[in-house]
Amino acid sequence: MTANVIEVNNLEHKYGDLKAVDNISFTVQKGEIFSFLGPNGAGKSTVINILTTLRKLQKGEAKVNGYDVAKESKYVRKSIGIVFQMMCLDYEMTVCENLEYHGKIYSMPKEERRKRIDELLKLTELDNKRNTLAKDLSGGMKRRLELARGLMTKPAVLFLDEPTIGFDIQTRMRMWEYLREIKKEGTTIFMTTHYMEEADQLSDRISIIDHGKIIVTGTALELKNQLGEDLLYLETSDNKAAAEVLRTIESVTAVDDDAKSLRIMLGVDVTHILPKIMDSLRQKGIEITTVNIKKPSMDDVFVHYTGHDLREGYTQEKPEECETVEALK
Ligand code: ADP
Repeated sequence: MTANVIEVNNLEHKYGDLKAVDNISFTVQKGEIFSFLGPNGAGKSTVINILTTLRKLQKGEAKVNGYDVAKESKYVRKSIGIVFQMMCLDYEMTVCENLEYHGKIYSMPKEERRKRIDELLKLTELDNKRNTLAKDLSGGMKRRLELARGLMTKPAVLFLDEPTIGFDIQTRMRMWEYLREIKKEGTTIFMTTHYMEEADQLSDRISIIDHGKIIVTGTALELKNQLGEDLLYLETSDNKAAAEVLRTIESVTAVDDDAKSLRIMLGVDVTHILPKIMDSLRQKGIEITTVNIKKPSMDDVFVHYTGHDLREGYTQEKPEECETVEALK
């Protein structure tokens, strides 16, 4: 089997005149946690829906686990697990029954089901909730049960759409631990998120996606390093004039003058260049009122590549819930 578990070439998707996915290409390697990081409306769900065969591919090519999503959807579905924002548990069934039922649908033999359920309930720390009805679980537990269900069949690839949306930071961090454990089992993980720290902490590689396009791809460290050694924030008596002076200084790789503080990217350690910066500004009669230095964060990376803050205009949504599947009662 190819080392690329997901291969996407020139994927495009339109809703009427709206191009939601605009000529996207990327690969995900076996055993990776790969994240699509982007704001609401960036096109993340459309891509994940196409890859999981829930939405028909319109244009381009996509392969999951070596299978073509357009022509071999049945085999794609067999090799993946899905944990989506829409909760699709049967609330009138217990934790154990939800997993049992899922295993049965996928024709898992009884012994294998039992064994896998035991493993997964341990992993997701739901062991003591085995006989609790899904409707009586907390929000975090419901998502963990979704996760366990997605993993029942030991899928080669697990797809997660905003796995921790609406969670508090503790619950989110526990979810990250489970996902790291799943990675250790050899599962490849493709996820979407709008949480910077989630992409940063969890992913082997990240694609920043905005307006249907992949803007940049790399490890969190690579993306941050591309912004330079240090970021310098300056407030001055005249930011526009200061920006012009700064742009002429070698080792200043970029200057962003849109906010109250000038954001200056440096190609060298700040201690080497700060005296020169101070002198150059003073010579032009520009007064420096505040100086701040920090290492580039994912927020900085995002602003740098997209030109806007991820949180701008983002509205947090509660996950939708599926109606109970009548046939399962
Ligand atoms: P994300 O998951 O990043 O929030 P989506 O893939 O859901 O992005 O949406 C991308 C764009 O496509 C948005 O502008 C959204 O409004 C639009 N869109 C998504 N689904 C539909 C649909 N079923 N019909 C029409 N427009 C849609």
